[in-house]
Amino acid sequence: MIPYFAESSFLFLRTFMYDVAIIGGGIVGLATAFRLMERAPNLSVAVLEKEARVAFHQTGRNSGVIHSGIYYAPGSMKAENCREGKRALVAFCEREGVAYDMCGKVIVAVNEDERQRLHAIYERGKKNRVACELIGPERLKEMEPHTVGVEAIYVPEAGIVDYVGVCKRLAELIQDHGYELLLRTEVLDINSQPDRIVLTTTAGEIQARYLINCGGLYADRIAQMSGQAPTVQVVPFRGEYFDLTPSARTLCRNLIYPVPDPAFPFLGVHFTRMIDGRVECGPSAVLAFAREGYTFGTVDRKELLEILRFPGFRRLATRHWRKGMLEIRQSLSKKFYLNALQHLIPEITLEDIVPTEAGVRAQAVTRKGELVQDFLFDETERMVHVINAASPAATAALNVGNLIVERFATRLN
Ligand SMILES: Cc1cc2nc3c(=O)[nH]c(=O)nc-3n(C[C@H](O)[C@H](O)[C@H](O)COP(=O)(O)OP(=O)(O)OC[C@H]3O[C@@H](n4cnc5c(N)ncnc54)[C@H](O)[C@@H]3O)c2cc1C
Repeated sequence: MIPYFAESSFLFLRTFMYDVAIIGGGIVGLATAFRLMERAPNLSVAVLEKEARVAFHQTGRNSGVIHSGIYYAPGSMKAENCREGKRALVAFCEREGVAYDMCGKVIVAVNEDERQRLHAIYERGKKNRVACELIGPERLKEMEPHTVGVEAIYVPEAGIVDYVGVCKRLAELIQDHGYELLLRTEVLDINSQPDRIVLTTTAGEIQARYLINCGGLYADRIAQMSGQAPTVQVVPFRGEYFDLTPSARTLCRNLIYPVPDPAFPFLGVHFTRMIDGRVECGPSAVLAFAREGYTFGTVDRKELLEILRFPGFRRLATRHWRKGMLEIRQSLSKKFYLNALQHLIPEITLEDIVPTEAGVRAQAVTRKGELVQDFLFDETERMVHVINAASPAATAALNVGNLIVERFATRLN
């Protein structure tokens, strides 16, 4: 379990050699380390995270929802891992004392067109073995008195959780076991050798027999650094949120979702009671001008050019420019954002909402301009790259961690 020193390529310098290095201290990287600890406790493992704390990016800026698995294509990795991951997550929170609440949610159709799509989701839910029931407007009114709809799906198996709390506890458990969590350690370059992988980081050189890349918004870039040529590119989509003011929180009891557009993996702006008592509205899905571009004005010229030059993005933009423009308008105008919220709660007003922190989703896009709908891994003899771990990867993380460790299982012993 203790990393040993190995001769580095630099004369007189000694380098830590681990069995496994995991890049990324988000929920996927930490859950993978946790599963590794259970499966192969005697290995030496380091989690490398560029920020000063865990869950700093997607995991710490998401909606905090435990997804039921109702939306995903039956048989897909998202469907399977969401169902199993949700159970594992709830068991983990129970055991480790992390706050969660399986409060249930409603998905609301507001017109006949949406009703048809709602039924398709309901059928999917049944195929995915998710407990769900169709309810009429009266029952909906009892559950969410301020929401108006023609029909809805009630999903008792959805909930809310403190994902940062989950990550902090995972980090404590792996460190108590003897694994290392190296914060402020950014991986700058990766050199793949026949018997090891050499990582150049801001904290010096680190070597490992195996590498697991859970780099979220930078997962494709990290794969490239290691010599892989992923066929997809991560495109950052910012999700902007508003908070309901304390006096308006009564407008939403639990989780109120619209019927999503089946062309996109995003679920549409919704109302989410958070585990700390706030109610968030959002997130939108607007192109971010930097991978970690949390505001409209944050621009990284190099990263933006990379996106604009990517043929997949250009094809996506040509196909969905109307939706893209709507998202930009929504991002620039609170009033326009309010219109989207009034779709579900007509009585909500401008005074009821205040802007709050945004998140940025890492969404892989193919060269043909398709949004990758499922989780996506890229694997070599010594490396696993988690290229697409978009929603519901936070819900599913403990199971995704198992999946990754299983891929290594025969090589690790
Ligand atoms: C707005 C929004 C709402 C969402 N809502 C939900 C939800 O309600 N429920 C749900 O299940 N999912 C939700 N998701 C999805 C979920 O949050 C993500 O799927 C999940 O957090 C991905 O975790 P991760 O560990 O892969 O990525 P991250 O949390 O982004 O972690 C990746 C880590 O890698 C680090 N890193 C990157 N490059 C390097 C490098 N070179 N060297 C060292 N470290 C590096 C980063 O600093 C980061 O900490 C949402 C996402 C967003 C953005």
